[in-house]
Amino acid sequence: MNKRYRKAVVAANWKMNNGPEATKAFFLSLRSFLHDVNWCKVIVAPPFVSLPTAVKAARGCKVEIAAQNCYCEDSGAYTGEVSCAMLSELGVKYVIIGHSERRRIFGEGLELIRKKVEKALESGLHPILCVGETLDERQNGITGEVLLTQLKTALKNVTADDMRRIIIAYEPVWAIGTGNNATPLEANQACEHIRDWVREKYGARLARGVSILYGGSLNDKNASSLFSMPDIDGGLIGGASLIPDKFEKITKEANI
Ligand code: PEP
Repeated sequence: MNKRYRKAVVAANWKMNNGPEATKAFFLSLRSFLHDVNWCKVIVAPPFVSLPTAVKAARGCKVEIAAQNCYCEDSGAYTGEVSCAMLSELGVKYVIIGHSERRRIFGEGLELIRKKVEKALESGLHPILCVGETLDERQNGITGEVLLTQLKTALKNVTADDMRRIIIAYEPVWAIGTGNNATPLEANQACEHIRDWVREKYGARLARGVSILYGGSLNDKNASSLFSMPDIDGGLIGGASLIPDKFEKITKEANI
């Protein structure tokens, strides 16, 4: 990562793990090492039901809270959905949008993701936009194309001012939860490709400042080599973020 222009970011995506009690316990261990973390932004994304506990537990410590999902309407007959305004009201600052599990399992398409990004920005949230290719797409040599299609649609109407509030996470689908992380070189190539596109659309200065994270089987063993790459500004971490000890080690690697 390039610390001259960007602060490192580590974001924990807990997925459907850690209810309110487990969240409270996790924050107790998190607090014990966070006071030394100055060069890295720490974000934790618990499930919806644990957000109030997390927001409360995060008060006075250097961690921001993210939701794992949101809906693109303000209110109404959308059973089971949660609006961005509700998340904002709760004190949530970030929201993960376009995670491959949402795209694949819940059938979220490019247009819905675009609307969610726009609604999140309008509501004062910071989107963490996930993009990434499947194994088939990589093997067919269309990784770059896939990333650009996802980026171009999701950010179609996003102004430069709003772009400064977005974090992009490159998450190859084949690496998520599989134990097969992308090599530092593969991950950096993709992140560089993303940054090149941001530069083309928003200019060099903005591209230098945008945080682009890698996600996909990132753990305490491979964090250091991934974070040493120039275009990888930190990580979006699933499985390894559930174990306080591992999350602490990953955060320390990003905090160097
Ligand atoms: C994720 O869910 O965003 C993720 C990267 O998961 P994992 O670290 O478990 O591969």
